[in-house]
Amino acid sequence: MPETARARNFLDHKVSKLPTYHVWTVGCQMNVSDSERLASGFTKMGFESTDDMANADVVVLNTCVVRQSAEDTATGLIGRLGKRMKGNDDRMIAVMGCMVGPVQSDLRRRFPYVDVWARPQEFDPILETAGIRHGLNPEGCLAGAVAENPHVASFIPIVHGCDKFCTFCIIPYRRGRESSRTAFEIIHEAEMMVARGVKDITLLGQNVDSYGHDLRPRIDLADLLEQVHEIEGLERLRFLTSHPNDMSIRILEAVRDLPKVCEMINLPFQAGDDTILANMRRGYTRGQFLDKIDQIRNVIPGVTLTTDLIVGFCGETDAQFDKSMDVLRAVEFSKVHTSEYSYREGTYASRIMHDGIPRSVKKERKLIVDTFQNEIQAKNNQKLVGEHFDVLVEGYKRGRLHGRNRGDKLIYFSVPDSAEVTEIPPGQTVEVEITDSSPWSLEAKPANAKAKVKKEKVPVG
Ligand code: SF4
Repeated sequence: MPETARARNFLDHKVSKLPTYHVWTVGCQMNVSDSERLASGFTKMGFESTDDMANADVVVLNTCVVRQSAEDTATGLIGRLGKRMKGNDDRMIAVMGCMVGPVQSDLRRRFPYVDVWARPQEFDPILETAGIRHGLNPEGCLAGAVAENPHVASFIPIVHGCDKFCTFCIIPYRRGRESSRTAFEIIHEAEMMVARGVKDITLLGQNVDSYGHDLRPRIDLADLLEQVHEIEGLERLRFLTSHPNDMSIRILEAVRDLPKVCEMINLPFQAGDDTILANMRRGYTRGQFLDKIDQIRNVIPGVTLTTDLIVGFCGETDAQFDKSMDVLRAVEFSKVHTSEYSYREGTYASRIMHDGIPRSVKKERKLIVDTFQNEIQAKNNQKLVGEHFDVLVEGYKRGRLHGRNRGDKLIYFSVPDSAEVTEIPPGQTVEVEITDSSPWSLEAKPANAKAKVKKEKVPVG
């Protein structure tokens, strides 16, 4: 049906050029995934993608509000676009994503020239309005869109929103309460992606471990992993982001027992001091977090662990910051995403707590974490030299192929006879031997000269 709609729309517009769209995206993988799905809807309808935002017929801004600065960037861009498009009724601006909360009256008053305000995953009003504006039929192009040319490692959102209400976080207010997609819908999307060449799927949620608690009959993430695992042609399966309180033994056992599920867990700890954790309303103590880490390591030997950490949360003393460093020293995470706490209007912390830590102190603490973490990563990556891994090729950059192993390590390697390297398609798995390392990536060579990368006349995407 979408193909028919596209053909009909294309024929209707064959005498004139196709209308163009541009989707601007900031934020997390959820937003990247939403933008890809929306773009697929536009393409099916008969629009053409353009990099030229200033002259696109339809501009969609997919926004993030986790930090005030991200929201300020989006509002600045909306203002500039509004000035540029003034008086041109044919052009359309849509704003999607976390900036659009359940109440939009204030946004509508501030930016009257925005044609559509859409909450995360609300694709239909954007596509319908664009279709009407340009005389294109949106039938069959709406819900359930899957990217036309998905990346070999792609994302599927499985649960939207969050029920945790951490005091520093705006997400529950903007994305709303947790709402799980049905397994049927997710599996259909995963099958379509695999049919289009995807080999590595990451299931996404703000709190992915709570998947399914709102569905009847009840289902959990372990059940869903089992079902997605059955898809023929899929090679790797992952999920993020986890919350320590919802990471059940069933989920851990699914990671251990299902061969396609990669042995990696992203488990944010956010702070190492119990008072700070309580003020953040994270719902666990440092001891409970470390117990969870022990449990994960016991159930999944060789697991790769990554985490998220906030430095300089309201009132955090040097001694309390040191407790975070203690956790980093004790666990030696494979990767740490560190952010400096910043005031975020609308959060509980912004109303009740005082952000009294100077910017310079936050920066200094982040530097301490980054420096320590670089040393850990350099040391642990060095130990991998000489080891063999299967790399799923994702692309070609500066004369070398690159991809990731099951533990999400970025690996670069060259193949002999590199003349045709740019014609190697992503999606092949190559066994490599690690030859060198840095804190952020690994260098390698194919492990077996006979197991050369298959070369086909398909350009790298
Ligand atoms: S778990 Fe906490 S930090 Fe994560 S999205 Fe929910 S409220 Fe925000």
